[in-house]
Amino acid sequence: MKPDHLSDLTFASLDLHPRLLSGLAKLGYEHCTPIQAACLPMALAGKDLAGQAQTGTGKTAAFLLATMQHLLTHPPKGPEGVPAPGAFILAPTRELAVQIYNDARQLGVDTGLKMTVCYGGAGYEQQRAEIEGGVDILIGTPGRLIDFFKQKTFTLSYVECMVLDEADRMFDLGFIDDIRYLLHKMPKPAERKSYLFSATLSHRVLELAFEHMKPNVEKVEIEPEQVTAERVKQQMVHVSNHDKLPLLVGLLRSLEATRTMVFVNTKRGCEMVERALVKNGFTAATLSGDVAQTRRLKLLQDFKDGKLPILVATDVAARGLHITGVSHVINFDLPNEAADYVHRIGRTARAGSTGDAISFVCESHAYSLPEIEHYIGMKVPQLEATVESMKPADYLVPERLPRREDDKGGRHHNRQRRGPPRRY
Ligand code: AMP
Repeated sequence: MKPDHLSDLTFASLDLHPRLLSGLAKLGYEHCTPIQAACLPMALAGKDLAGQAQTGTGKTAAFLLATMQHLLTHPPKGPEGVPAPGAFILAPTRELAVQIYNDARQLGVDTGLKMTVCYGGAGYEQQRAEIEGGVDILIGTPGRLIDFFKQKTFTLSYVECMVLDEADRMFDLGFIDDIRYLLHKMPKPAERKSYLFSATLSHRVLELAFEHMKPNVEKVEIEPEQVTAERVKQQMVHVSNHDKLPLLVGLLRSLEATRTMVFVNTKRGCEMVERALVKNGFTAATLSGDVAQTRRLKLLQDFKDGKLPILVATDVAARGLHITGVSHVINFDLPNEAADYVHRIGRTARAGSTGDAISFVCESHAYSLPEIEHYIGMKVPQLEATVESMKPADYLVPERLPRREDDKGGRHHNRQRRGPPRRY
């Protein structure tokens, strides 16, 4: 994070446990981000928090530091023999849970606190064994955690700190009954610390907060992602459906892109884009909801490590993930929702750096542009180079994807709704 994105408040000036200060020093964090500066003094004073903050603002360290500080200064009261986490952190997606866990391990490297992450789709027995081995901070997605809880793998009766991250996504993904169930199994709100974070503090989120947090919960609102997006150099190019793939190949060749995310609206579209890129000599892989969990984590790691330069993704990948150093975001398809546009381009220019976002405006998705421009409050400037000048003469056409059962009739349907069928 660049210094101009940080506040004047230093971690050293807060009354943090020396073991946390040493973790922060190892990470090279000296100054709080604005959300940390707003949250930490209140959390350290014992307040519950309902924070409005997006990924990229430093919210994870804010709630992790508050949580770990509490655990370090209030030794656990759990009984011998039954795993009884002192902190319970819920996240809506597997990727986010893993990210929180990784941050927790780094920040808490010198704390001696035991941390475990649980999520669906992988590692069932291993996760259970880890919990059974004892855990201070249990992080995970609601489904898997309920599963273990109902099997009495752990108890929630000794939770001192509860964190609900991306609360609005919990509603969107239909987890809210699961969350309510788990919250009811913990000590009462007055007897624990509760930290809730959400991209928006909407009515439904605040209702949840008032129901399950202390009455004097502090609301902390920090600049929405839209402001982050202002740091992104945004451009767009009008292109026919037919020319999209060659344009993408030409564009990627001309850009000095180190880590690029290409967003596509459908999984099938992702596959086609990946095929075209690979055929034309790029190393690229698809991250969508269909990709098996272990592979998703591997892809994200490779992308983070710089081994995988291009990640082709659906919106599943756009939300919540913090991937540093994304140099370019390309919207191969404009998203249908304006908010998704901001989330997508927010993958670049994270944490104070700047980035580039280039959007293809094609026949199939051009109708989204006015709404996006209205939402971001500006016209997206045109790319200077023309499509013709960027299309490579040696573009290799990839093999077509095999036709799927559910494609039958789809073309006709598409044509009626949204003009000509896509040809990539
Ligand atoms: P988050 O919003 O929690 O995803 O945080 C975004 C990223 O900001 C983290 O992954 C860290 O790399 C970075 N970060 C968080 N807090 C600080 C800080 N106080 N100073 C510098 N970088 C930070």
